Amino acid sequence: MKKIIKEKLIRGRGVSRGVSAGSVRIINSRGRRLAKIPISEADIPYELKRLRTAFKLAERSLKRLVRGAAIAFGDSRSEIFEAQLEILRDPSLRNRMEREIGTAWVNSEWAIQRTVREFSDRLGKVADLHIKERAVDVQDLGERLLNALSGRSKGASYEGNYVVVTDQIYPSALAEFGSALPSAIVTERGGWTSHAFILARELGIPAVTGVHGATRRFKDGMSVLVDGFAGEVLLEPSQTSLATLDTSPSTGDSAEICEIRSESEPAVTTDGVEIALMANLDVPKSFEMASEVGAMGIGLFRSEFLIKPGKGFPTEKEQLQTYEQLGGIAGKYRARIRTFDISSGEAQGDADHFERNPALGLRATRLMLNHEPREFRTQLRALLRASASAPVDIVLPMVSDLSEIVATRELIEAETLRLSEKGIPFGKPRVGVMLEVPSLLFILEPLLKSVDFLSLGTNDLVQYLLAVDRDNESVADSFRTLHPSVLVAIKSVIDASLRAGKEILVCGEMAGSYLYAPILVGLGATNLSMNVRAISRVRNIINSISARKARELAALLLRCESAKESERALLDFYEKNWPVIFPRDLLLQSMLAKRHELK
Ligand code: PEP
Ligand code: MG
Repeated sequence: MKKIIKEKLIRGRGVSRGVSAGSVRIINSRGRRLAKIPISEADIPYELKRLRTAFKLAERSLKRLVRGAAIAFGDSRSEIFEAQLEILRDPSLRNRMEREIGTAWVNSEWAIQRTVREFSDRLGKVADLHIKERAVDVQDLGERLLNALSGRSKGASYEGNYVVVTDQIYPSALAEFGSALPSAIVTERGGWTSHAFILARELGIPAVTGVHGATRRFKDGMSVLVDGFAGEVLLEPSQTSLATLDTSPSTGDSAEICEIRSESEPAVTTDGVEIALMANLDVPKSFEMASEVGAMGIGLFRSEFLIKPGKGFPTEKEQLQTYEQLGGIAGKYRARIRTFDISSGEAQGDADHFERNPALGLRATRLMLNHEPREFRTQLRALLRASASAPVDIVLPMVSDLSEIVATRELIEAETLRLSEKGIPFGKPRVGVMLEVPSLLFILEPLLKSVDFLSLGTNDLVQYLLAVDRDNESVADSFRTLHPSVLVAIKSVIDASLRAGKEILVCGEMAGSYLYAPILVGLGATNLSMNVRAISRVRNIINSISARKARELAALLLRCESAKESERALLDFYEKNWPVIFPRDLLLQSMLAKRHELK
């Protein structure tokens, strides 16, 4: 008798809008444990055959990835996979694994794991950084071979409508999918402001997080429907549920990009206040979309996305090309390039690298200044050179003390001198700081004297002010953007910047939220930088409200004493004052999808 499969609804948290369906592809998290299984002498030929098949499958999938990565990202990210292909084809790795099977009489999985560990440990000890980075390629390759052995890469690995299910996703993992991006993403952990989800929103991939035990409960090949609006996943959806879906592979946010603009232009409130809408870019390719939606320059380019997994920092030439291109596109509205905002693990090519408290650890400006000065100088040089012909600015992430600005300015001066001695053209980029660490809130006056502009990073500001890990799903309910302390902090930064006559822009995810943008307008912000896919929606909202009412809203929220109270006050205000712009069911949907955090 045919088994009747009933659909099952699983609730999580929507972190990238859109509804999409596909078949499950479980992606292994790192660090799996494998058993050493003794085999008999008679089984050796069979085990060797398994290993060779795994090599063939891995080679096939890598070749596909080389082609796909170049098409999807329009850059040289395919090099990562080319390097892995090279290692795969080098006989020494395979010979070592075969010897392990033939002499120690063990299963292929064990032989792969042992050999990979041996090779990567050896590479990791080499002083030359480029050779050292190869260790990560070897580890990735080991994972690929293990996947091939377990049948995961059988057939077309990343083709058709597939939904990635994993415990936690890194932004670099999205590069893996090449031109065939997943229809949707489901993860066990992560938050609205996690970098991988920021990128998923930019790429228009619906995503739901907080689905506990997903990698155990879901099976490869299962059919799923992912609703990034409601934060729900439907396992084995019925035909009726699937019929509600648009037939396109991913409905994402593309519907929002309805108006193509010939020119950059500000949003204007009904009482005439102009708000510049800028683009946050992670993938350089997205600037095409930024100009289609009329972005007024690039408010934030996360340059760390140029670091290719396992390949280390980009060269000066690669950076120069990208920065010139970004500046050229932004034109007079300028491109604000943030210097590498990475952790020490990411700098070593291992995102899982153990640091007790990575958000508070060796990262961003403090890492670059003290541990990667050579790479920092290279980046600053590329920025100085790009600014000779293109309007680019430098933005320093996670600054907590003015000494970091002083030290960076010294490096900029030294590199300027070097360039001038060599007769290489350079410009004079403006230097700004991301305001993300609360310590800066208490030294705003001297801070503003030492920078040309400020960029308010609300994602980290909320994380650090409220001591809530932005990547940790279990504390996601405590990540409250409308917490009174956050609103007071934003107000004081905007006020101080205006008093000092310095540019201030807001570039955290709050700026791209159609529910939060009016609050920022009410707090006096006139520059909002956001995910390219949010621009049209935020523009529509701002064009429909008056700045006077927005100020009334901000004043009301500033009087609230808790996050809960200000969230309630916001919804009541919208229902009472702007019922057409914010219909009740839209507000309820937003509340349900994220429980407390609105978006
Ligand atoms: C922020 O912290 O708000 C920000 C814009 O930077 P990122 O999200 O890259 O940390
Ligand atoms: Mg930040």
